[in-house]
Amino acid sequence: MSEELLKIKGLNVRYVVGKEVSEAVNGIDIVINQGETLGLVGETGAGKTTTALSIMNMLPQYVSRVQGEIFYKGKDVLKMKEHELRKLRGKQISMVFQDPMTSLNPVYRVGEQIGEVLTLHEGKMSKGELRKRVGEILELVGIPASRQDEYPHQFSGGMKQRVIIAIAIACRPELLIADEPTTALDVTIQAQVLDMMQDLRNTLNSSILMITHDLGIVASFCDNVAIMYAGEIVEYGTLDEIFDRTEKHHPYTEGLFNAIPNLNVKTDRLNPIQGMTPDPRDLPAGCKFHPRCPHACDACKSGQVPVYRRGTHQIKCLLAEEWGEKECEGEEQV
Ligand code: SF4
Repeated sequence: MSEELLKIKGLNVRYVVGKEVSEAVNGIDIVINQGETLGLVGETGAGKTTTALSIMNMLPQYVSRVQGEIFYKGKDVLKMKEHELRKLRGKQISMVFQDPMTSLNPVYRVGEQIGEVLTLHEGKMSKGELRKRVGEILELVGIPASRQDEYPHQFSGGMKQRVIIAIAIACRPELLIADEPTTALDVTIQAQVLDMMQDLRNTLNSSILMITHDLGIVASFCDNVAIMYAGEIVEYGTLDEIFDRTEKHHPYTEGLFNAIPNLNVKTDRLNPIQGMTPDPRDLPAGCKFHPRCPHACDACKSGQVPVYRRGTHQIKCLLAEEWGEKECEGEEQV
């Protein structure tokens, strides 16, 4: 069995601005083992990016209230001192942000931006050694080493995203968090960047948390999948379990799959999930999906919805009562 790298237990995040409280993440549990890729899937506003920033302990302290535990190799990131966090970020856990256009500093050469991460974590090195290391990292992401003296504006969108990934992997992190890494790219470039990330995963044996709303990316990239809605994990399973259409699923997961256009069926309409993601400042009581759920009944509108489990597959829905075993109070969900 592979080693447990990251374990999130009962994470709650609230953003407090004046009298307004946003319930962004509501009691999630996640485990990622060494070398594994977990897809975190959900619509905008589901709490995916807040979860990612919590793992890096990078939430804005003046507005966020965080409860729970985030163990990285057995040590709680939320209790780490600033000097421990500086060693962790970039070296052991790295993050690739969505937008390559705003993540690079336009006035520094790309080689300088990669070199900065290397010297920060590995100490000073000779100019020649630094150039060599930067060149090797660029080549790992498919960019010729000779381009390290160029500025970000000299790169296309896809190439900029490769540079961002080069910065993220410069110190060979054990956990890479990729937050919608291909959203800003067109489809062909998206495929190239994903292929490159696959190769990197195989070369570095890094674990990856892939945050996305795209089930196609999940299908081609992930080992396990967590479906997130209104700050909760509503379904969790292996890739095969989540993509097996004969299996039981959460109604929200069903909605996500039904919203994908089917090329074999002639239709003039898409089939989106009705309604909107709830406002985290005013979440519905009971099951948070009930205002949009085609199966909602009175019991769904109040009280706690339990998680039901069958092996590695979990569903947080009252309809799963006959399907799986109810999680005991306080037992880990994942
Ligand atoms: Fe739908 Fe009820 Fe299940 Fe929520 S608990 S997903 S409202 S059936």
